[in-house]
Amino acid sequence: MTIQELDKKYVLPTYARADVEFVSGKNARLEDSDGKRYIDFTSGIGVVSVGHANERVNSVITKQISNITHTSNLYHIAPQAKAAQKIVEASGYDMQCFFGNSGAEANEGAIKIARKWGERDGEVKKYKIITLQHSFHGRTITTVKATGQESMHNYFGPFPDGFVYADNIEHIESLLDDHTCAVMIELVQGEGGVQPQDKQAVQNLEKLLKTKDVLFIVDEVQTGGYRTGEFLACGVYDISPDIITLAKGIGGGVPVGVVMTSLKNVLSAGDHGSTFGGNFLSTAAVCEVMDILKEHKNSGDLDKTIKYFNVELEKFFSSHRNLFTQKVGIGLMCGLRVKDADTLSAVIKNAKDNGVMVLKAGRNTLRFLPPLTITKEEIDEGFKSLNSAVSAL
Ligand SMILES: *Cc1c(COP(=O)(O)O)cnc(C)c1O
Repeated sequence: MTIQELDKKYVLPTYARADVEFVSGKNARLEDSDGKRYIDFTSGIGVVSVGHANERVNSVITKQISNITHTSNLYHIAPQAKAAQKIVEASGYDMQCFFGNSGAEANEGAIKIARKWGERDGEVKKYKIITLQHSFHGRTITTVKATGQESMHNYFGPFPDGFVYADNIEHIESLLDDHTCAVMIELVQGEGGVQPQDKQAVQNLEKLLKTKDVLFIVDEVQTGGYRTGEFLACGVYDISPDIITLAKGIGGGVPVGVVMTSLKNVLSAGDHGSTFGGNFLSTAAVCEVMDILKEHKNSGDLDKTIKYFNVELEKFFSSHRNLFTQKVGIGLMCGLRVKDADTLSAVIKNAKDNGVMVLKAGRNTLRFLPPLTITKEEIDEGFKSLNSAVSAL
């Protein structure tokens, strides 16, 4: 049987997969099973932040697994402690980390911290969490409910209680009550359509939540790990939330999720845990990815890459104003609003046929999440292919 036949027979049909099977990659380049070559403007949805088959990460992982891969969290794990130090130091906050395996799990951790913090003896129990419309926080029952998209709540109920959706940041204040323990937002909505929040509005929200004694959770699963040009989008927005979640880009392709918080004494031993979370394999990868990205940032190369990519994206946008209505995003988390959903599907399909991979976000946004290490040549080649892909539309 072919891979596609095996997939159809043995894998649950939860994905509408494109008709392509990649077999190898190098930085922002991919090759499929027919030997056809592509430029990857998706990095596996913001995961392969340091590129495909990164030699430094691969060599660290290989060395690590030839010694030890997993012992459980019953014992000390050197790369976990070091990865936590690198993440906390890069953030600039006085926080501690918990390691899980995915973004949804990181958000579950954030929700547990907020809910436990909200249980105060003798006082009213705070449990409500306000999130935003068009947000995306994950696929577990709780994070699906935290996600402000009605269409994702059609099945799977009953859901955990206490999630409230605000239309936008300004709307949050009117929803706060004595039972609210936290507000959770993405600073740039990713799946919702590459939608950056207004900086002043976010800073006002941070002040408001402090005065109301409500926790501020920022879901940086997509924006974290230098995607916006800073280690955290919180740095771009100049805020200090109570809880931050990370996942996608910080493992360079190894499954990992992190919840970090300044509330160091809320969870005690036994309150939370994970069998796989933070094991030698994933956290050794995180350590190396953090080092690579820090060097990339400090050398000025990341900022140059962001600038070059955005100039080329702007040129592409300007020469196809018949298809695109707006350029959006921050850093290497960019998008183009497409005039309608049919055109968007056609752009993505033609792009693939022409050898460049791009993503959809929301109803009408063409999304770009290239590896942060993408080269000038790869960017040029990608936009050249993209130009021919859309010229027929
Ligand atoms: C992808 C994503 C998640 C879910 O991450 P998983 O690793 O798929 O569980 C949560 N929040 C945001 C903002 C995301 O982009």
